[in-house]
Amino acid sequence: MDCLFCRIIAGEIPSTKVYEDENVYAFRDINPQAPVHVLVLPKKHMANILEADGATMAQLTEGIKRVADIEGLSKDGFRIVSNCGRNGCQSVEHLHIHVLGGAKLSEGMA
Ligand code: 5GP
Ligand code: ZN
Repeated sequence: MDCLFCRIIAGEIPSTKVYEDENVYAFRDINPQAPVHVLVLPKKHMANILEADGATMAQLTEGIKRVADIEGLSKDGFRIVSNCGRNGCQSVEHLHIHVLGGAKLSEGMA
């Protein structure tokens, strides 16, 4: 298994878990870009959103909502981002959704 995030899900590499269920694992980004920066990913390996199906996206959506609740982001809002491929600056090739919040974020997105 040479995927970093598969190894984190398997517990081979330590992470700070925020939420976990049967299908989804969420943990704190090691290099946070906001006061709250959590990565939400499917436990099943897939490289990016191009390989995801609707069921996976629904599971991720539930995970994102749980993370928002746990982290106290629901009232004031937050941003989700999923980088895909070279132009998207994806650095880890296991699908993940960034959940960013805890403060007013920058207006720009690109
Ligand atoms: P990407 O650039 O693929 O959208 O996002 C990958 C994210 O994974 C980056 O924000 C990076 O900080 C985070 N990351 C990379 N390696 C590790 C790690 O070993 N542990 C944790 N918690 N986050 C990581
Ligand atoms: Zn993986």
